Amino acid sequence: MPEKVLLAAPRGFCAGVEMAIKALTWMVRVFPPPVYCYHEIVHNAAVVAVFERAGVVFVEDITEVPPGAPVMLSAHGSAPEVVAAATGRAAVTVDAVCPLVTKVHHEVRKRAADGFDIIYVGHEGHDEAIGTLAEAPAATTLIDPSQQQGLADFQPDDPGRVALVAQTTLGLYEWEGVLAEAQARYPELWTARRSDLCYATTNRQEAVLELADRCDLVLVVGSANSSNTNALVRVARLAGVAAHRVEGAGAIDPAWLDGVRVVGVTAGASAPDQAVQAVIDRIGPSEGVEVVRVTDEDEYFPLPPSLRAMMAALQSAVEGAYSARQPGQPGPVDEDRSWSATEALALLGA
Ligand code: SF4
Repeated sequence: MPEKVLLAAPRGFCAGVEMAIKALTWMVRVFPPPVYCYHEIVHNAAVVAVFERAGVVFVEDITEVPPGAPVMLSAHGSAPEVVAAATGRAAVTVDAVCPLVTKVHHEVRKRAADGFDIIYVGHEGHDEAIGTLAEAPAATTLIDPSQQQGLADFQPDDPGRVALVAQTTLGLYEWEGVLAEAQARYPELWTARRSDLCYATTNRQEAVLELADRCDLVLVVGSANSSNTNALVRVARLAGVAAHRVEGAGAIDPAWLDGVRVVGVTAGASAPDQAVQAVIDRIGPSEGVEVVRVTDEDEYFPLPPSLRAMMAALQSAVEGAYSARQPGQPGPVDEDRSWSATEALALLGA
């Protein structure tokens, strides 16, 4: 049995995931089922299963949403045509896109309008990449770092007007290689001042590096389609430690723990803390858990404006219906900071 678990902090839910989970929770509390959601609300199988049990139907094509049904668009961001189609057929459309993904959409639209050829570093087929590329498909070239294709085939009209943007959840190791090559080829390269990798992605990668220094094994809790989860596994391995992604406690292979003294545990930005706790319980460290904190996070993203407007209208129409916290009910929308996505999932029976 391992002696100790080193538990990364920060880990798990980021501000964008918190916002998206709480927003969809409001939707299922307000509307009778089914509520539709375009794409997985966040890339985590357990979170998706909780919402499915609560009456959410996840669709991959917006035409699967019956006209007049309420629909939410996922945290990963949607193509402009999808937003328009959803708005056209749904009674209520709430876009739960993370503001940090919206920022990248804006960068792509702005650079394309200014005549730039844009290199987008992201994973082919990932929901976030699909939505971002759709902002300016003619001006944007996808470079998938996992395919190690480099920039040899990228031929801009004007080498003096090239921009580099990125999926928010990449590993630093994926982004830095393309950045270096692009800077060498295009000295006037435009790129965001602090890169597009979001604070949650970079903080979790810094924390896993700290773990890697002190562990024999790192376990990363998260789903297979979670880009930032996979990046954490890779960061740990590149730092020289054995690392595995686990969906939950049941996915731990007992052979991994043979002869292991210290296990590092972290979680991708969409993985619930219940799953992390279950993993720790399964490891059962004889000397307990030590938290390894690299920074504090206090980012908070408010609920989507369309949801807040809808809830304000409901509050004035049905006096008090959504304005006071009742046992087993979410808190008031204007006190959204006072409750968490973990509480929201518990409310739905997680
Ligand atoms: Fe937003 Fe980053 Fe979280 Fe994605 S991982 S939802 S970009 S904060």
